Amino acid sequence: MFNKILIANRSEIALRIIRACKELGIKTVAIHSTADTNSLHVRFADESVCIGPPESIKSYLYIPAIISAAEITGADAIHPGYGFLSENPSLAEICETCGIKFIGPTPHNIRLMGNKVKARNTIQAAGISIVPGSPEKVETALEAGEIAEKIGYPVMLKASAGGGGRGMRILKNKQDLYDSFGLVQSEATAAFADPHIYLEKYIEKPRHIEFQIVADEEGNAIHLGERDCSIQRRHQKLIEESPSPAISPELRKEMGDCAIMAVKSINYQSVGTLEFLIDRDNNYYFIEMNTRIQVEHPVTEMVTGVDLIKEQIRIAAGESLTIKQKDVKIFGHSIECRINAEDPDTFIPSPGKITALNMPGGPGVRVDTAIYSDYTVLPYYDSLIAKLIVHGMDREDAIAKMNRALEEFHIEGIKTTIPFHKKVLSHKDFLKGEFFTDFIEKLNSP
Ligand code: ADP
Repeated sequence: MFNKILIANRSEIALRIIRACKELGIKTVAIHSTADTNSLHVRFADESVCIGPPESIKSYLYIPAIISAAEITGADAIHPGYGFLSENPSLAEICETCGIKFIGPTPHNIRLMGNKVKARNTIQAAGISIVPGSPEKVETALEAGEIAEKIGYPVMLKASAGGGGRGMRILKNKQDLYDSFGLVQSEATAAFADPHIYLEKYIEKPRHIEFQIVADEEGNAIHLGERDCSIQRRHQKLIEESPSPAISPELRKEMGDCAIMAVKSINYQSVGTLEFLIDRDNNYYFIEMNTRIQVEHPVTEMVTGVDLIKEQIRIAAGESLTIKQKDVKIFGHSIECRINAEDPDTFIPSPGKITALNMPGGPGVRVDTAIYSDYTVLPYYDSLIAKLIVHGMDREDAIAKMNRALEEFHIEGIKTTIPFHKKVLSHKDFLKGEFFTDFIEKLNSP
């Protein structure tokens, strides 16, 4: 097992990783920008290193500073968390060269799945359905137009290197496609430094269902059930739950088997997530794989009792999986609300000082956060400030707990999305479990 892990991240996920390390008896090193000196992850780690100014590009994304920090402190592994460098194959490669273990999959698999066109082809070759679309990247509007005619409108143009819900556009007809092609290409170049785009059939009113997988270096792989992440705004998740109210045990088994088959086909080692869209007829299509721990991993932890961060660390240390598929039991129901420092109506970021704070608690309530009273939410980073997670005997119980916990959660001084979550949690379609990725759009339209 590792002696010391450097956490190349900040905020709640850095704290989450520190907690897992403490329970495993591993020492921790926090890195931080000058703006994060007073952050909880810095206080809770055994050691900390300031690696640069507030801008991410000069600190949390700056590989030379991170590697130097690991070398100076004698860390034998780096955990990248999510976001920042977590899906950057260069960091994984440089770690290998420097004799530091990267806690995640191989650079090859990060690169393979990070290219969505290659990912689609690889997963299809493993025998799993993908969203109908272009077999390769599309170079011209003419080429895209021909494929769109074949698969039928509406279609989506997506950046091959896209992420975070950005770099995709829905096109209703040929004119739309011709007008937008160049624009999507330049957006992809600007946002991801990669102009490659591809075409997918636009699935109307789908559910976003993803499978958590865990695989070790010996080739053992299991799935821990699904998460339903259909409550999204602009293709970004806001509420996640497990199990999905839309998945039958038979479909869970079938999709879970597919997810295992997919990761085995690429000899994947670590935790990871296979994302699918499901249409109204229960046809499921792979959209992408995330080769890292996800923001929403706690809902899976709550229903399975598996600590995903500890598993991820153990696998990176060369240990084999302790759980077999037959031992995985889904117990009760879990929901997560992402609390963002944003205006609940416009979703415009609302950084600033937290003047008063009351965190919810009680049975079945978990808060993953790094905020405290007097903490200043910084404008430089993501607006996620807390993840409120509940676990109930069933979905109804979980919703009741979430409503209670949202009532108890008081954050003063800044605006947050708590009122938005209360609105969703009382909506009849959410209560019935009948919602699709257009839920929020419909909620906000008059
Ligand atoms: P990202 O990597 O940016 O998260 P994804 O490919 O995972 O992008 O898609 C994010 C979300 O965008 C999906 O959950 C879904 O809501 C929507 N989406 C993506 N592809 C399609 C599609 N072909 N049809 C309908 N919705 C889609």
